[in-house]
Amino acid sequence: MKNMLGKAANKGYAVGAFNILDYNSTKAVVLAAEQANAPVIIQTSAKTVIFWGTSAIISWIRQLAGPSSVPIALHLDHCKDLDLIKECIESGWTSVMIDASSKPFEENLSLSRQVVEMARPKDITVEAELGAIVGVEDDIHVKEQDAHLADSQQAIQFCREIKPDCFAPAIGTAHGVYKGEPKIAFDLLEEIAAKTGIPIALHGGTGLSDEVFSKCISLGCAKVNISTQLKYAFIDGFVAYHNANNKQYNPLKVIEAQFNQLKTGIVEKIELFGSAGKA
Ligand SMILES: [Zn+2]
Repeated sequence: MKNMLGKAANKGYAVGAFNILDYNSTKAVVLAAEQANAPVIIQTSAKTVIFWGTSAIISWIRQLAGPSSVPIALHLDHCKDLDLIKECIESGWTSVMIDASSKPFEENLSLSRQVVEMARPKDITVEAELGAIVGVEDDIHVKEQDAHLADSQQAIQFCREIKPDCFAPAIGTAHGVYKGEPKIAFDLLEEIAAKTGIPIALHGGTGLSDEVFSKCISLGCAKVNISTQLKYAFIDGFVAYHNANNKQYNPLKVIEAQFNQLKTGIVEKIELFGSAGKA
């Protein structure tokens, strides 16, 4: 993932990071990336990893991404459990995120440093977070009154000490569905990206306008996370087909409809982020 993000940051585009749920959604991400000839990041939440187990997920990835013509990274999204991070690294994930952002600053530094020390000898990419991104991601709930933006001085210190390959400062985006217009701290994003020189991950991508995406990418976001959109497409694609053909009871047709809805949305995002044709 580190190489993909380095190129993206240099050329001013972002790589889409899509949260998969099962084999069908993994296939949708891979085929969307191939259609767009784009590098792509397949993300798994810690919950999804625990649900299926690492070996099942790795078998889908090897089968789908192994022969693929485009660069594909496998990334563990928001994880606060060092044992699970270790298991993913040993199982074949190429990238991991340590999310110790709910801890006091010094503890976040210490936990993030431990993950960097675990990952670096194996050439595994590390993403770390600072500040609290509002909303629900996996089993991490951040209430609005507890959300706070990253502090720019702390962010610079954090990146200097930890040297993550990718940095996720809280800049006002939210996980889940936006209620009202999100207030993005563009100045903070610009300052952190410029002063740290580290590719920034944009969390809470679902529901942002095309203009907000473009601005964030131009200011230094090289990775954009899309999760909630895929949860909706996963369920709506399935339900809409069944509702329109409710006498059919043909599961493969339903799975195909779900796949098509997922893939169409992923291709659109890849094109919006500017990574199409960059494989
Ligand atoms: Zn996130």
